[in-house]
Amino acid sequence: MTIPVVHLKKKEENRILSGHLWVFSNEIQKIDGVPEIGDVVEVRSGRNESLGFGFYHPRTLIAVRIFSKEFVEPDADFFMRRLTSALQLREQIFKTPFYRLAYGESDFLPGLIIDRFGSLFGVQILSAAMERRKGIIFDVLKGLFSPEAVYERNESSTRALEGLPQSKAIVYGDELSADYGEEGVVFRVHPFTGQKTGFYFDQRYNRIFSRQFAPGSEVLDLFSNEGGFGLNMAIAGAAKVTAVDSSDLAVSNMKLNAEINRINCIDTEVSDAYDFLNRSIASGRKFDVVICDPPSFTRNRKSVPVAKAGYRRLHEMVFQILKRGGILLTASCSHHILRQTFEDVVASAALKSGRTLQLLHRAGASPDHPVLPAMPETEYLKFTAYRAL
Ligand code: SAH
Repeated sequence: MTIPVVHLKKKEENRILSGHLWVFSNEIQKIDGVPEIGDVVEVRSGRNESLGFGFYHPRTLIAVRIFSKEFVEPDADFFMRRLTSALQLREQIFKTPFYRLAYGESDFLPGLIIDRFGSLFGVQILSAAMERRKGIIFDVLKGLFSPEAVYERNESSTRALEGLPQSKAIVYGDELSADYGEEGVVFRVHPFTGQKTGFYFDQRYNRIFSRQFAPGSEVLDLFSNEGGFGLNMAIAGAAKVTAVDSSDLAVSNMKLNAEINRINCIDTEVSDAYDFLNRSIASGRKFDVVICDPPSFTRNRKSVPVAKAGYRRLHEMVFQILKRGGILLTASCSHHILRQTFEDVVASAALKSGRTLQLLHRAGASPDHPVLPAMPETEYLKFTAYRAL
């Protein structure tokens, strides 16, 4: 079998040589062969040196997603080895089997995300190459873990870029829930009906970090989902937690989680966050600690200016309900918004609101979302803690 070869234009190889794993369509000089969607291709520099092997897509900006330096057939054996390596890392880090098992390119499985909730697995497929091989992937999961259930959570809009429809299915097993313990707080996770694959593991360390500001505080958990931060703050001694999310389902699960943990100091509210902020501003209500963890504001690079304006407006409102000397724990999960950009926007909102900031802490996603140093696209979460005087 001859493998099609993608030749890069002259001088386009440096990024790949440094460890970046995407070839963009405008960097290609010519292709030997006629690869189809999801086929394996070899990538060579303008000087004909081999740079690696990847999955090809003829109609996307990301033309090749490299998964190996040497040739390897992406068969069951390959997935077994990659998932075993990913598993080793997670088992080293976490005491219980609840984590992001596979984080796409960062685990050299481009476009494949797998979250593990004990014996339940939520799979998100974001590339056509992985979609084509999903039967193999599900078989390998079965062989490695004998799961009780596997769910396909393919609702991401980015699938459209690869020509894939959105879908959601139970691959096998039933619709089940699993109890995930986070340093003493229990979350009942629903991997088939919850948002994304059921739970936001990326903020795990940041939720634990936030606990130190809880004792005796009046806390607002804005964009709370199922109470990730709020319940951590409650268990760590907050006087009162108000948790706000626009999703009915998220809030009803948050109530269930509060019950399971016997937490009474949490007020939950189904509301648009901006409505809540406006009402609080109007009534003069203020908080000691505000957690602000909105969904992504960007879809692509073009939406960056709108996203920046959105963050500025949101933080201007937040500063109006944060007491002087209060703590702001704020996050951006928007791709394309760099950490510096995010911090600049928060700083300018503070300035406009007459507040002086002390930056206390910067963090990213928890380590089951590894970052490839040469590939900034693998880093999306920016979490920052401030005291606002
Ligand atoms: N902090 C959470 C994750 C938050 S995800 C955790 O640690 O688990 C972002 C949340 O924002 C989602 O639950 C979504 O339902 C909610 N959301 C999106 N738009 C909103 C809006 N306009 N007002 C309030 N909540 C919103």
